[in-house]
Amino acid sequence: MIIVLFGPPAAGKGTQAKRIHEKHGVAHLSTGDMLRAAIAAGTETGKKAKALVEAGHLVPDEIVVGIIAERITAKDCASGFVLDGFPRTVNQAVALDTMLAGKSLAVDVVIVMAVDEATLIKRVENRAAETRAKGEPVRADDDPETFKKRLAVYKAETAPILPHYERQGKIKRVDGMKPMDEVTAQIDAVIAGVKPRKSWLSKWLTG
Ligand code: ADP
Repeated sequence: MIIVLFGPPAAGKGTQAKRIHEKHGVAHLSTGDMLRAAIAAGTETGKKAKALVEAGHLVPDEIVVGIIAERITAKDCASGFVLDGFPRTVNQAVALDTMLAGKSLAVDVVIVMAVDEATLIKRVENRAAETRAKGEPVRADDDPETFKKRLAVYKAETAPILPHYERQGKIKRVDGMKPMDEVTAQIDAVIAGVKPRKSWLSKWLTG
């Protein structure tokens, strides 16, 4: 099963994607995590991405599309994957459809985590204050001002993806304002209702 977990920054996608990975046996693909790993390792991709990520901007489409195209060929993706933080632009969504179609695959469901913006800003401000109080460094892009920039980027670049998947009839909404376990329960219910796509072979056999 191929799942896109969709929502604004700090909606809790990372936590829920990890749970989907653990419960449903699909790989967890977070472009944010992959970019942070590349930055920490100082790879060519990491060098190109560093300043952009830290300022709350998006990394160019060709970089993240390349990362995902390579990642989905790994063995652990054979039984499916959950995409967390990708696609983030309409171009990325189209590139994803094309790369999957090339393997006779498609996104099965887009789970949208609906959250309230003011609450998100509060969440990030609290998280930054708690981290500072512990004497730990705040993730550069979780600085409250940079976070507002990321929200603006989400609205301008990422939210316009929704009509793309709406047209494909793939969107399911969950209430991201509920406590974490309740959000998980809603997501599990959505996944339980998704019919697995038939492979071309079973389609051919069963007509
Ligand atoms: P969050 O889940 O808090 O929104 P992520 O960890 O997904 O944050 O992403 C952190 C940053 O990495 C983004 O603000 C952006 O700079 C970069 N990034 C991650 N995924 C993408 C993507 N698909 N396209 C472009 N930039 C991306």
